[in-house]
Amino acid sequence: MNSPCLICRGACCETVAVPFKSIPQESIDWLNMHKEIKADKSGMRFETKCEHLTDEGKCGIYEKRPQLCRKYKIGSPACLAAINSRRKLKAPILREIRLWNDNFVKYAYR
Ligand code: SF4
Ligand code: SF4
Repeated sequence: MNSPCLICRGACCETVAVPFKSIPQESIDWLNMHKEIKADKSGMRFETKCEHLTDEGKCGIYEKRPQLCRKYKIGSPACLAAINSRRKLKAPILREIRLWNDNFVKYAYR
């Protein structure tokens, strides 16, 4: 079975998210004055593609990718948010994620 990431082509590799513990509204408003940044009380997001994401939408350093990337879960809230905000054709990706997760559960509990 193919990974949903092959259809998605790296929506999660095109942004950087920085969480906030606490931040004044004035600072959020200032951050949002910058074109490439979207901020709210929970954190801010930069629209910036990882230099290792290939034109085919694959990780160019897959075997050596950082722990942060290894821990990122397909179908997690962050994955779904990345797809929803960055991919117009979501249905085929979300269908693959559902299949992937069903099979993952099947394999994990057999
Ligand atoms: S956003 Fe989700 S489906 Fe898309 S590449 Fe990242 S982990 Fe894979
Ligand atoms: S290192 Fe690979 S998996 Fe991690 S963000 Fe870059 S392209 Fe994506």
